[in-house]
Amino acid sequence: MNRRTFLGAPAAVSFLAAHAGAAAATVETQVIRLKLRHTWTTVMSSSDYRDNLYLQFRAGGVTGRGEGAPIVRYHEDAVSARRTVESVHSLLTSADPWQFSKIMAELFRKIEGQYAAKAAIDIALMDWVGQKLGIPLYRHFGLDPKDAPVTTFSIGIDTPEITRQKTREAAAYPVLKIKVGLATDEPTIEAVRSVTNKPLRVDANEGWKDKEEAVRKINWLEKQGVEFVEQPMPAHMIEETRWVRSRVHLPLIADEACRHAADIPKLAGAFDGINVKLDKAGGLLEAWRMIQIAKSLGMRTMLGCMISSSVSVTAAAHLSPLVDYADLDGNLLIANDPYRGVQVQNGKLILPDRPGLGLLPAG
Ligand code: MG
Repeated sequence: MNRRTFLGAPAAVSFLAAHAGAAAATVETQVIRLKLRHTWTTVMSSSDYRDNLYLQFRAGGVTGRGEGAPIVRYHEDAVSARRTVESVHSLLTSADPWQFSKIMAELFRKIEGQYAAKAAIDIALMDWVGQKLGIPLYRHFGLDPKDAPVTTFSIGIDTPEITRQKTREAAAYPVLKIKVGLATDEPTIEAVRSVTNKPLRVDANEGWKDKEEAVRKINWLEKQGVEFVEQPMPAHMIEETRWVRSRVHLPLIADEACRHAADIPKLAGAFDGINVKLDKAGGLLEAWRMIQIAKSLGMRTMLGCMISSSVSVTAAAHLSPLVDYADLDGNLLIANDPYRGVQVQNGKLILPDRPGLGLLPAG
């Protein structure tokens, strides 16, 4: 068959078209407004909704889904996250998705900041890979879903009356995470304790600026049945936190002070552990690396999340058998989750055993 007859044969044309179609990946982005069940207040802000970036990566008949929750503290929003994905569109549609580590390394070199956008891309690629291999993501990471920890359920800062109501609504969760860091810390904890005696974890979100105040509050919290305190002082006050740690018994966990892998070594000794979030790290691959680095330094590890739907929370849950603590409740705090993925039974994270993230449409 010469070239002309080859190109002219209908069967050959359809073969070429089919393979051209299979090779061409597509990337679509969408911003979805997630509505919070309760106004969400921390030391940093108060809001009724969050705009998150969603990404669909399609190739070879499989769609991988990703999500990124832009973090205002790091100058990210849904517009900048979406623009970031668009800026690497041709790289994503022309690269071989099986080379996901190479793709993400290149994106980390090319893009400054914008970790929520990086997380959305990483999660979509890993969902695609898991579906193509026909295995759930936890299996890809070599983990046992039975090791997934209990997740805390978070209670944002509010009046004592609403705090009591939220605590009652959280009856299904065996461990609560209470946001503090304002002048109302004692009344907040007392409101929770008037309703329940279950274990509490406390997140001050950098709220205590004075090291002696931090020591006083942490020692008071120890008497209230608190298991650990997250980010008591501002992120840059590592030496002050080291001073505090030598005067308290409760473990201290770094969140805002621990954004990236390179932050971890200098936190050892000031903090007992780190809170890893996909949106801070830039996805599952980087989160996995951070968890391993922290473990190598003898630190405890925790997986947290932003206000996110089941895409991002399920992705983090697939890594959760690796960590000591989970605070993966972002999807439980919203009223319009577009997907279903990880479930919670008596507080324990139940990972989907479907391929990839294992997402289903909501409803
Ligand atoms: Mg935190």
